[in-house]
Parts: sequence; structure tokens; C-alpha cells
Amino acid sequence: MASLFISDLHIDASCRQIIRQFTGFLQTQARDADALYILGDLFDSWVGDDAPDPGQSAAIAAIKSLTASGVPCFVMHGNRDFLLGPKFCADTGARLLPDPVIVTLYGVPVLVMHGDALCTDDRAYQRLRATVRDADWQSQFLALSIAARRALAGAARTGSQAHMASMEDAITDVNAESVAAALRAAGTSILLHGHTHRPGIQSVSVDGRECTRIVLGDWHNQGSLLRWDSSGPELLSLPRSDYEGTPE
Ligand code: MN
Repeated sequence: MASLFISDLHIDASCRQIIRQFTGFLQTQARDADALYILGDLFDSWVGDDAPDPGQSAAIAAIKSLTASGVPCFVMHGNRDFLLGPKFCADTGARLLPDPVIVTLYGVPVLVMHGDALCTDDRAYQRLRATVRDADWQSQFLALSIAARRALAGAARTGSQAHMASMEDAITDVNAESVAAALRAAGTSILLHGHTHRPGIQSVSVDGRECTRIVLGDWHNQGSLLRWDSSGPELLSLPRSDYEGTPE
């Protein structure tokens, strides 16, 4: 048995292949898991629990089916779907995780984050993050009509794409000192996150302590999965072709 970690699926109605791969994954490998963790950006946008779109409903039903089968599912907010709330949890049977959180996996404590909070070289993004994570901002946003929220989310997505395209790669990646500070504060020797779409396993030294940073990949062209069992973590890519025959 193993715990499974994924992130950054960025599901929206236009990406049927990702939806098919995700639902296929939930119907197969995930059924044998001790738990499934989705570490943010499951959806490309989420403007409120009262406004799911048809592209999201297949994913929601598939998570519900997984949790109903007895596999616990934990979901962390990403920078795209930070408004996932109680109704999403009720509809899926998933539980929301705080960011950051320490998860103990087969005796090993692991610091788990979405990862955007580590990208501190991108000052403009961190200012935006502080704004949209503010409770007053969120309640004002959720009081708008669904159409107005969708229009704002679309504008934010366009702005984000332009911003990312204008920044150097180093600025939109994690900041090394922020990684060290997070590991120092948590006291763990392992950090696991997504967000940067740069999958890999990297050694980092924190005050002379040998630590490991594990980064999940996105699901744009293939799936990315961290499988963690009693023998440790294994970072895998999931070829899309493995799921072509899976019904949605
Ligand atoms: Mn993200």
C-alpha cells in the first residue's frame, strides 16, 4: 500500500484528455492507495463552490467515487483553486489540508505545501497572493455574481500568463532561502510541493542538515505522481496513452 501525491492538473472544460486521465487514474491506481493527496491547482480556476462548471463535474464525481470506495482524499488549495470550500468537500468526500502541513508517511514527517508561497523572488505575485488569501477580499469576491467572478478570474488568468511570460525562469521558481526557512521552521528533512511544474528530487543543505526537496510535475502533457510506501518515495510520470481506453 502507498500514499499517492499529485498536483497541478489545472482541469477546465477544454482539457478532456486531462479529465479522462485523471478519472482513469482515480478508477485504477488510486483505488489501492492508503490515501490520495492533491496538492493544489486541481482546477484551473474555481470561483466559488456555488459555481462549478461542467468540465469540473466529472472530476468531482470521480473523487466522490474514490472516497466512497474507502480511500481518503486530501486536497490543498493552489493559487488557482484557493476558493475550494465546504460544499466541494461535501460533494467529493475530500478533506481540505492547510498549507503548509506536516504529513507523517510511514513514520517519516514530510513538510507538504502547494509551493507558490516559496516563490518569494516574484514580489508582484506574493502581493497578489496576500490579497486573494485575505478573508475580507474573499467574502467580497464571493458576493459578486457568478458571471462577474468568472470574468475577473478570466482576466486574472490572462494577466498571470502575461506576467509569467515576462519573468525569467529563476524568478518564478522557488527561492532557495525560502525553502531553507520552511524546512528550518518545520524541522523536517523532506519538503514536498508542486506549483512550479518542474518535477524532480533535489538535495538541499539546511544549517548543515542534509534535506530533500521533492517537486511534483503538472498534468499538461502527461500525469505526474509521487508514490510513497514503506520503502520511501518514488516520482513517476504517467503516460497519457495508459488511460486512453478509460471511460470518463
Ligand atoms: Mn500553482
